[in-house]
Amino acid sequence: MAKHIFVTGGVVSSLGKGLTSASIGMVLERRGLRVRMQKLDPYINVDPGTMSPYQHGEVYVLDDGSETDLDLGHYERFTNSPLTRDSNYTTGQIYLSVIEKERRGEFLGKTVQVIPHITNEIKSVIRKMADDDVDVVITEIGGTVGDIESQPFLEAIRQFSLDVGKENCLYIHLTLVPYLKAAGELKTKPTQHSVGQLREIGIQPDILICRTERTISREDREKMALFCNVPLDAVIEEKDKDFSIYEVPLSLVENGLDELIVRKLNLHAGTLDLDDWRDLLHRLRNPDHEISIAVVGKYAEHSDAYKSIYEALDHAGMHHRAQVRIGRIQSEDVEREGPERILSGYDGILVPGGFGERGIEGKVEAIRFARERNIPFLGICLGLQCAAIEFGRNVVGLENAHSTEFQKDTPHPLICLLDEQQQITHKGGTMRLGSQPCVLDTTSRAFECYGSANIDERHRHRYEFNNVYRQQFIAHGMMIAGTNPAGTLVEILEIPSHPWFVAVQFHPEFRSKPTAAQPLFAGLIGAAIKRRNASRKTDAAEKVEDQQESSRK
Ligand code: GLN
Repeated sequence: MAKHIFVTGGVVSSLGKGLTSASIGMVLERRGLRVRMQKLDPYINVDPGTMSPYQHGEVYVLDDGSETDLDLGHYERFTNSPLTRDSNYTTGQIYLSVIEKERRGEFLGKTVQVIPHITNEIKSVIRKMADDDVDVVITEIGGTVGDIESQPFLEAIRQFSLDVGKENCLYIHLTLVPYLKAAGELKTKPTQHSVGQLREIGIQPDILICRTERTISREDREKMALFCNVPLDAVIEEKDKDFSIYEVPLSLVENGLDELIVRKLNLHAGTLDLDDWRDLLHRLRNPDHEISIAVVGKYAEHSDAYKSIYEALDHAGMHHRAQVRIGRIQSEDVEREGPERILSGYDGILVPGGFGERGIEGKVEAIRFARERNIPFLGICLGLQCAAIEFGRNVVGLENAHSTEFQKDTPHPLICLLDEQQQITHKGGTMRLGSQPCVLDTTSRAFECYGSANIDERHRHRYEFNNVYRQQFIAHGMMIAGTNPAGTLVEILEIPSHPWFVAVQFHPEFRSKPTAAQPLFAGLIGAAIKRRNASRKTDAAEKVEDQQESSRK
């Protein structure tokens, strides 16, 4: 029978609960256990896919096409837990399901209530995770204890241990232990209050994980243990990691978390193996190269909006032993100040996916700059669409070419809606979504990167390259480097005469892991290193020439 771990958070939001849950999953996997990850989000939206990146960061897409919370990205990067539609539920989805059941008459006219109907629904989605080939299900409850929206979820996980037995459940509470400069000390009171709130609901946490900027003294740990009613060894410190998020699992292990969980849940676990992870951090700490990549997007100022892209760049850096400095560029700044000013000095340019017209011309300008200056370029989704617009306008000579997403009556609709998307009016979950096969041209750079002609990558878009323009593009030096197996949809565009110019309609960033860099990201970073080294050589040669010149004088 599977055991259950519930992760809740207290004191403040943005404590890194997702990252901590993912790290817990990872260290348990590294002890030979089969782990399943799940996130329950208390907000009422039914589709995380329609939420603003400003409020919730990127929408993370799974193989099965479900659009989920970005914490699932952490789960996939840290663990091997298979993720599906069942891995992420919102209050909206829970209520929708209960209301649909009520409409079908399944409750036989009874009054439908939060307890037991909503809580039963929540428990059933948790139970769904626990099939025969799972040892531990880790369910993270979004939000903060004390939020009105969280109450039904907390009530459901409280009841859950009555259903499956207390010995099969473990409650981990993540809190903040802030440092007060004026007092010159760490404060444990917020943690005490947060646990107090949890206990009011009837949940006694088994383990406290304390986020902190500074080392927590034994005295403070004892205080929290006493007031929160947990043993001292179950007060685990999780200190801020300035260097890399990939240090988190190691520090949790150093503080004894894996052993504690194994003991408390009576799990049959193997010995811990983290050698490859340590090696990864070693490579990160001792880079052979240093390069910079400009990510030119609409939400550059919002750190979570391109989360998986930034992570994938880091993974590719680790792969090549390169430190990747990421320039988060607002595409509107490129419009205002010109690409030369903003983008000179970068070793590579990446234009990520996006929606809406704001900043489009800046992206197009950035791509032109990359193409004309031979700077390695990776375009992703909207990035491919902008690359097509740029090439159509400036190389093929199609004046005012555009995507019909931004200009309905453009004379040259290079990017347009397919018939099946024309009729759709509902916004939630109606795009071309999820993992789809793609066949590569074996002479392409993409093929060089993947080492295989048949790949699968995840999609999330409505618009497509317009096939009417294929021949003109090819005639002007663009390569259709990948299509769907039927050959009807353009998935990859490349310029073979450019050192490295690859644009893809899918989202390769969702498949990248720290231990397995995504091939296209690795390709981009490899090309950027090459460019950097070549320019260093030219600089050195110029210096020698200058010296020779001046000694002649
Ligand atoms: N807005 C574009 C489309 O819907 C691109 C989407 C994306 O970049 N994810 O096709």
